[in-house]
Amino acid sequence: MAATAPYDVDRVRRDFPILKRIVRNGKRLVYLDSAATSQKPQCVIDAISRYYSEDNANVHRGVHHLSQRATDLYEDARHKINSFLGTMVGCETIFTRGATEAINLVAHGFGKGFVNAGDEVLISHMEHHSNIVPWQMLCEARGAKLRVIPINDDGELIMEEFDRLLNGRTKMVSVTHVSNALGTVNPVAEICRKAREAGARVLIDGAQSAPHMPIDMKAIGADFFVAAGHKMCGPTGVGVLYGRAELLDRMPPWQGGGDMILSVTFEKTTYAHIPARFEAGTPPIAEVIGLGEAADYLTKLGMDRVAAHEHDLMVYGTEQLKQVPGLTIVGNAKEKAGAISFTMDCAHPHDIGQILDDEGIAVRAGHHCAQPVMQRYGVAATARASFGLYNTRAEIDALVAGLHKVREIFA
Ligand code: PLP
Repeated sequence: MAATAPYDVDRVRRDFPILKRIVRNGKRLVYLDSAATSQKPQCVIDAISRYYSEDNANVHRGVHHLSQRATDLYEDARHKINSFLGTMVGCETIFTRGATEAINLVAHGFGKGFVNAGDEVLISHMEHHSNIVPWQMLCEARGAKLRVIPINDDGELIMEEFDRLLNGRTKMVSVTHVSNALGTVNPVAEICRKAREAGARVLIDGAQSAPHMPIDMKAIGADFFVAAGHKMCGPTGVGVLYGRAELLDRMPPWQGGGDMILSVTFEKTTYAHIPARFEAGTPPIAEVIGLGEAADYLTKLGMDRVAAHEHDLMVYGTEQLKQVPGLTIVGNAKEKAGAISFTMDCAHPHDIGQILDDEGIAVRAGHHCAQPVMQRYGVAATARASFGLYNTRAEIDALVAGLHKVREIFA
């Protein structure tokens, strides 16, 4: 589909073989769990299969034809990701095993290089555990203090509190672009600008934004940005860390091993330049190639058109869910993307998930790896319907019909 043509969701759906699958009781899959992991288009599946059947070899190591070919495909994927993210001169893209590893890499490297006793790291109340625990571990190790930007009842960051918490001791601000538990879209460009003025560095967790909206690193202005391959139509086991080269250059390596060195003797090792310095060992080659293909696929669809399509689903879904008696939406930010969390007065989220599953509808129930969010709203868990570029209004209608069944059974 050309990026200028109208968005044809039926055509997009044909790219995803799994969407034809019958899952339960003769019901066709209604996949509303893309925040956990997205489905994969045939071109990504083919790229991985082609690599293994035609090009499989290790990268950066051999002079033989296949090794050079695998290396070219691997490095090509880096270019594809760079153009997907709109990265800039002076920045580098590093492949990791996931968004979680990318955050840990920064917490480890930046922490060791730049955070000392008495310094502060600022996160928000709506972070995924992946953007809490690594910073907590760092603060514990370095004697630094973890501070938390609170959120209001609608699930938005309280920006006055951010202004108040940001100070000369803040070394790092690490916040999510889009909350996986609430769907809130945060004002990341403003956060980056203010942090920069205060002399702090910023990491933006883009695990839930990169699959849903155009990402323009120049406009965001972050020092680090992370993304999860498997949430953006790519395979599992691969993630992206984008960062400013001047910072990455000064960060100690994350893991030691092959490929990340210039020379090794028993007395001393010198390290390779970035990105190799942070890609120790055999990388997830097939996964990186698959992710490059996914980035190309999304670019061809046009992320602005994906965002518009998903915005329509968000508006329609919110309207429809609000009409289900006894249902409360958790997270009513003005700017939302990707996910709607909710509870029902008649049923536990796990029961909701179970009844919907009988209808072939996949949603997630639980704390969504965001326990502090659950604590903030006084719930143990929520049910979460999350969207992808292949979802339709008809699937939201199916969800609503399923929720009426939940009421019939439990109310
Ligand atoms: N950050 C956010 C906002 C997420 O939603 C997730 C996964 O759900 C992650 C980070 C971690 O991603 P992964 O587990 O793929 O490394």
